[in-house]
Amino acid sequence: MGRGLSALVLCLGLLGLGAVSWPVLHGRALDRLAQGARADLDLAADALVSLLQQYRETAVLAADYPSVVAAAAAGAGSAEAEARLGRIADKTDLRALRLVARDGRVLSAAGPPMGPRAGGAPLDRALTGALGRGVAVVPPGAPRLYEFAAPVFAPGGGVLGAVLAGVDLDRIDRLWRGAPEPLFFATPAGEVLISNRAELGAVAVRRIGVRGHELWRIDGARELPERALVATRDLPVVGLTGSLLADTAPAVRAALAQLAGVLAAAAVAGAMILTGRARLRAEALAARRLERQVAARTAELRAANAGLTREIAERREAEAALERAQDDLVQAGKLAALGQLAAGLGHELNQPLMAVRSYAENAAAYLERGRPERAAESLGRISEMARRMGRIIRSLRAFARAEDAAVADVDLTAVIEAVADIVRFRARAMGARVDWPEAGAPVWVRGGEVRLQQVLLNLVTNALDAVEGRDGARVSVRMAAGDPVRLTVRDNGPGIAEPGRMFDPFYSTKDVGKAEGMGLGLSISHRLASSFGGELTGRNLARGGALFELRLRPARLEAAA
Ligand code: ADP
Repeated sequence: MGRGLSALVLCLGLLGLGAVSWPVLHGRALDRLAQGARADLDLAADALVSLLQQYRETAVLAADYPSVVAAAAAGAGSAEAEARLGRIADKTDLRALRLVARDGRVLSAAGPPMGPRAGGAPLDRALTGALGRGVAVVPPGAPRLYEFAAPVFAPGGGVLGAVLAGVDLDRIDRLWRGAPEPLFFATPAGEVLISNRAELGAVAVRRIGVRGHELWRIDGARELPERALVATRDLPVVGLTGSLLADTAPAVRAALAQLAGVLAAAAVAGAMILTGRARLRAEALAARRLERQVAARTAELRAANAGLTREIAERREAEAALERAQDDLVQAGKLAALGQLAAGLGHELNQPLMAVRSYAENAAAYLERGRPERAAESLGRISEMARRMGRIIRSLRAFARAEDAAVADVDLTAVIEAVADIVRFRARAMGARVDWPEAGAPVWVRGGEVRLQQVLLNLVTNALDAVEGRDGARVSVRMAAGDPVRLTVRDNGPGIAEPGRMFDPFYSTKDVGKAEGMGLGLSISHRLASSFGGELTGRNLARGGALFELRLRPARLEAAA
């Protein structure tokens, strides 16, 4: 629900609440007003009735006085009766008191004269032996009187006449002049007899009935409220109806204030509910948004995770493939090395074989010429050549042996000697000088004999390649025992063109046509070195040439020795 719609609903709700509560609040206010008016009227009415009762008693008492009874019986007024009535009137504040004969003649009187038909209906009633009361008929301009008539009984019974007591109504009016509420007493005919506002009875009123209350709308009065609630009470004892007018304006104002309070409270409560709902709605929205974000993020993470898992699997596969490829390379490298070796051996064996042939021919010639000592010398040379060839072939066998042999303790000096035998012929042919370490005590390292030979052969061959065709070509192989054992191959060639790439498989700066230019030698050597816990590094020297270093773990046997 939108904000505007909420406000509209709230307004309609408040209107409905107002429409429902107003009659209740208004009715309750009028009820309270009526209660108060009724109590005020009771008070006023009781005061009036008891006052009038006193005058009635006075009339009854006066009718009992012997002088009065005597005058009535005589049918003529007496000074004595007149004085009595005068005293009573003075003491009780009666406006008029008189003794009237059965035929209506006034026998004795106190106070101003009354009209020609003094008494009227009350008198008629008294002459029947009952108590009469009512508004006196007075001459125009005379004060208005309320009249009581008490019968004067003969000592033996029978009505001799009546005593009439006239109460000055104007004086009674004054009793309530100061009363806050307008009130009046009227005859059954509707004539306003007593009132505390002169306007009462003179102004036009319109009656409006509201919830069992009599309301009057009064126009054009100065002393009277515009709208009044009218409380009424019949006063049978005096034959009047009392009415009191209570201004409804304060009651309506109070009811309005209450209504305003109710509406304000409802508005606040409604607004709180609406804003509370709005906040709840906002919170729910925020929560839903957050949930969506979390879901989206979770999906992203899941996808990323799946991607990673895939990548890891791919990497594993790539690693396995690389390992396989490297194994293949090692295998290929071995084959290449074998090829190299075979080529080297071809040269190496060819030369002693040729020498053996010529020494053998020499020996035969010396024997023919009868010079056995020269023949023996030649035979000795032959045997030396044979020994040398045997050594070369041993190397070849070792080279061809299975390479998966476990790491063992190897004498590094023997490895160096074997490699030196292999490359000696080539070095000599190219006029390069190769320095080998001084022969001495074995240096034991961890490794594989053939693999170590392969690594060293590769390093020395590379060095010879580097110095080939140079003046003063020189390669130097050094060994330093310790932990690790260091074997270095140094040359005075041009240096490594790209040291960062030389261990890459198939990286070669050499002619592709050459058997050795496969670019596998260093990568295989590097791998072989690490296969027995060693390390192969290479760098250029500041004064030219390259230096390769093979670090090897010393043999445990040496440590134990
Ligand atoms: P190949 O010898 O078949 O080229 P290698 O892996 O043994 O393969 O050598 C790779 C490359 O490293 C050589 O082509 C060469 O450029 C460089 N290199 C190796 N040893 C030396 C060296 N001693 N001096 C200069 N460059 C060298």
